Amino acid sequence: MNVHDSERITGMLESEGYIAFDATGDKDITPDLIVFNTCAVRENAGNKLYGNLSQLVPMKELNPNMQVAVGGCLAQKDQGEILKKSPVVDVVFGTHNLGSLPTLLERARVERESQVEIAEALVEFPSSLPTKRDALYSAWVSVSVGCNNTCTFCIVPALRGKEKDRRAGDILTEIQTLVDDGVVEITLLGQNVNAYGSDLGDREAFGKLLRACGEIVGLERVRFVSPHPRDFTDDVISAMAETHNVMPQLHMPLQSGSDEVLKRMKRSYRQDKYMGIIERVREAMPHASITTDIIVGFPGESEEDFMQTMHVVQQARFTGAYTFQYSKRPGTPAATMEDQISKEVTQERYERLLAVVNQIAWEENLKLVGSDVEVLVAQGEGRKDRHTDRLSGRAADGRLVHVSMGTHSARPGDFVTATIINAAPHHMVAEHKVTRTTRAGDLSESSVSGPAVMLGIPTVVS
Ligand code: SF4
Repeated sequence: MNVHDSERITGMLESEGYIAFDATGDKDITPDLIVFNTCAVRENAGNKLYGNLSQLVPMKELNPNMQVAVGGCLAQKDQGEILKKSPVVDVVFGTHNLGSLPTLLERARVERESQVEIAEALVEFPSSLPTKRDALYSAWVSVSVGCNNTCTFCIVPALRGKEKDRRAGDILTEIQTLVDDGVVEITLLGQNVNAYGSDLGDREAFGKLLRACGEIVGLERVRFVSPHPRDFTDDVISAMAETHNVMPQLHMPLQSGSDEVLKRMKRSYRQDKYMGIIERVREAMPHASITTDIIVGFPGESEEDFMQTMHVVQQARFTGAYTFQYSKRPGTPAATMEDQISKEVTQERYERLLAVVNQIAWEENLKLVGSDVEVLVAQGEGRKDRHTDRLSGRAADGRLVHVSMGTHSARPGDFVTATIINAAPHHMVAEHKVTRTTRAGDLSESSVSGPAVMLGIPTVVS
């Protein structure tokens, strides 16, 4: 969500006449504006932000007209405190105030006074703002913002508010426009993406949305993040299996395999339910790649609880997992729970978990050796490595593939069919067979785009 918001901020500022500036380029150029789009999911987001801001003091002294804006979840959380802690900041804008940024900058300039605007609830969906996408072939599409759950480790509901769903017609119109612009892959985005429809009074709305995506000619790949097991209904599984362009990939956060820990996390599913979903997904899509998020060392987690997580990992055979050591997020209920687990115990469990996760991912990747996969060549990732002649991208099931191209070529946005010849825990290596060029590839060849100045803090999807 944070990355997607950054694309909106960049697009909006460009439409106001700002020019994106490559921060890795000429160090002598001082930008007129620096925007931090912050994420508060990680514990040390605040330290990073205030560290970065203090480094701007000499730059601002040299160029007092340079403006600094801070947005995102940390701005929503700290609000006016940011101005007290850092004199270089001109504008603080909340997660629901993206569209006000140009006006706030102008007002700060004219009135020579810092501006703060934090709305408690979303008025206008950010998707109605202009955007500048990092990749021409792929795009995020918000279906909802906010979350009605209250996971005790998570700061999101406090900062992004209650779930607000977008009308299906608006979502599909946006996707059609993107496809008309050459986009071949979209990722539907929501804090709790498959709860989509609860705000509209239709519990099956997400499955219907997936099926409607299947009707869009030219849209080759549909993905979504992040679903919640509580809302993962069978109609979504059949919509995934029966819709040709919904990819055989599922990222479904587990967080813990222990029912006791899940209870304390206020995650309303239990191990049985989670494993039931995995089984039904595998039945409907035997080749689906399933990945997850896991937190280790949540308050009160016993060795037995941890072994329940290990048990699920062994049974579910994830092709990948984002594993996190629990750390307190101030403002969340878990931060004040008793029985906080020591750093040493958490670290030791984390290492054991990581070893098993990596081993299983490796074994699952090795199973594909000898088979053909279709890879969507990626921007950045897709840069040809001069020493190995490899391009990189994602297979249909989302796994990272490095393709030895030999004398063949492909551009970001093109598809390459390749035979897997080797595998590692986090990627596979393949040999090129066929390139299928796309309009997205033509466009990426003819466009020169650089990253914007976004000294933000990377996002973590929960
Ligand atoms: S972890 Fe996900 S589902 Fe839970 S409160 Fe946070 S955003 Fe909502």
